[in-house]
Amino acid sequence: MNVLKWMEEIQVIKGYTRVCLYDLPRGNFRLADKTTQVLIDSIEGKTMDSVQSNLDSTEKEWLNEFKNSEYLFEVPESTFKSFPTINFQWETPFRVLSSFIDKSSDLELVIPTLEQTGCKHLWIVFDTLDIASKEITKHLEYSYFLSIEIQIEKHNPSNNYESFLKKHPTISNIHINDESFKSYSSSPEVSFSSKKTKGKPLFQINLLIFSESKEHNVFFNRKIYFTGSKPFATEGTDCRINDNFDEPKIWLSSKDKTDICKHCEYRYMCVDNRIPVMRKENEWYHDTECNYNPYIAKWENEENYKTLIECGVISNKNEFSFNHEKIAEINKELWGE
Ligand code: SF4
Repeated sequence: MNVLKWMEEIQVIKGYTRVCLYDLPRGNFRLADKTTQVLIDSIEGKTMDSVQSNLDSTEKEWLNEFKNSEYLFEVPESTFKSFPTINFQWETPFRVLSSFIDKSSDLELVIPTLEQTGCKHLWIVFDTLDIASKEITKHLEYSYFLSIEIQIEKHNPSNNYESFLKKHPTISNIHINDESFKSYSSSPEVSFSSKKTKGKPLFQINLLIFSESKEHNVFFNRKIYFTGSKPFATEGTDCRINDNFDEPKIWLSSKDKTDICKHCEYRYMCVDNRIPVMRKENEWYHDTECNYNPYIAKWENEENYKTLIECGVISNKNEFSFNHEKIAEINKELWGE
């Protein structure tokens, strides 16, 4: 006899208004209403026939959808318990994984320090392309870093970024810090132009980010900022890291410990560059609002979007509170629920 088995790499994450199905191996997701989770929880280990006989037409559609998307399989009952569970614990042997180095830092001091931590990725700011060329030749001509991106503060129209990249193969990208925030890549097919998107979350769906985000802030975790050759946990703050790179608290500011985000269905795929503020141990909030409101499942650019305050949600240094009745009324108006 065959029974139904849910793929463990498809994680069902509950948000305030709906659930999100993370397809970790394929890097995509799908949204569904909360009743779908009840359906998923109730079908495992049962036969297709016995499940189908108890479903309404919408649930049957979901069931077919799950099978067609390979989220759900039929397996012999005798093997049902043979599938190992995934250990989502995130671990790394390295004290630092990436580093942002500002132009006031002395690379002669910083690079050897980073090499000892196991750091893999660098972003270095230089005033001009000429200074970058000299410093890279001196300190990074031969390097074991997996990627080095540089940012040029003063663009000169005579700069030839393509030939710079050919001359310095250890550099993967150059970012020009002017209005266009144009970037050049050592792989021509990925050359692009992009704008800075402060405050706009970036979604990455994979096993690593999913695991890391359970306990960590995936934007800041194991990242350090060098200013004047001193290590800090964030850019432009006085959150100094000690010389042993002991884990600063911000690395552990996971979305589950952060106001608003803890109720968001995207919280284990979200790479958010806003600096969180600690209210007290294990409680974090942000001074600026994300452009997604999980209480009404709407993005800022969508019709009928409402801010957190308009929904009765308060998050600041003193408190985190919300008005469930008010949110329910708004959702009824928006979604007819
Ligand atoms: S509320 Fe915004 S920042 Fe927070 S998890 Fe959701 S999308 Fe990310």
